[in-house]
Amino acid sequence: MPKNKEIRLIDEEGRRVDGRRLDELRPFRIEAGVLKNADGSAYIELGNNKIIVAVYGPREAHPKHIALPNKAMLRCRYSMATFSVEERKSPSPSRREVELSKVIREALEPAIFLEEYPRTVIDVFIQVLEADGGTRTASITAASVALADAGVPMRDLVAAIAVGKIEGKLALDLNGIEDQYGEGDMPIAIMPGYNLVTLLQADGIFTVEEIEEALSMASIAIKKLYEAQREALKKKYIKIREEVLSYEQGT
Ligand code: ADP
Repeated sequence: MPKNKEIRLIDEEGRRVDGRRLDELRPFRIEAGVLKNADGSAYIELGNNKIIVAVYGPREAHPKHIALPNKAMLRCRYSMATFSVEERKSPSPSRREVELSKVIREALEPAIFLEEYPRTVIDVFIQVLEADGGTRTASITAASVALADAGVPMRDLVAAIAVGKIEGKLALDLNGIEDQYGEGDMPIAIMPGYNLVTLLQADGIFTVEEIEEALSMASIAIKKLYEAQREALKKKYIKIREEVLSYEQGT
């Protein structure tokens, strides 16, 4: 492996390894309702990341003693497929997957009216099919669409993106190489309708000014993701409506 110094992450024209500008998102695509057997589901592609999310619930908690008397329990499981990274990943949950499951749950919880469903469980299963940096934030973006698709009442969707630091400059939405060789990464999740941050992590060292700048870069990107999330949900329901109409016309 080349050492950090030997890798140029920004060229003379200010382009990154994949040709993007510093404030440019990778191409992305969000789809709602991709799985028939789950109560709600979503799929996201962000650059090379491919992630599918399934939601079940609210449903009765089993075993019953885990139920919370005053609200639903949100359970998240972030899991990477064995083939999602270059070297086969062990199928057993790694320390990182356990941690990310918790981090993602905490980023989603503020958006959900959990108090409306006491003694129940809402399960969110996140399967990373292909990983290339920024999977936790892409998972949050897809999971909130899957929750909405399941009909779980929510205050707002949550959309997320990471801002990192490469060659001393802030860069939006780091890919795998940039994440590996860059100086830092700051995943940010926001409920855009409330302008409320539900996740702010930092790996690496950032100054106060950099954090402020990163938040403003992230919030611009998050608006685009939010738009795509809403479009994905609308598209699904327009499709269902068309199916119902054509069924009614056919009978
Ligand atoms: P995030 O995916 O949210 O950026 P990390 O910063 O922990 O989370 O991971 C960065 C990237 O490192 C992942 O997106 C993935 O591409 C890569 N990665 C994570 N785990 C492994 C692994 N077990 N083997 C190879 N690459 C991995």
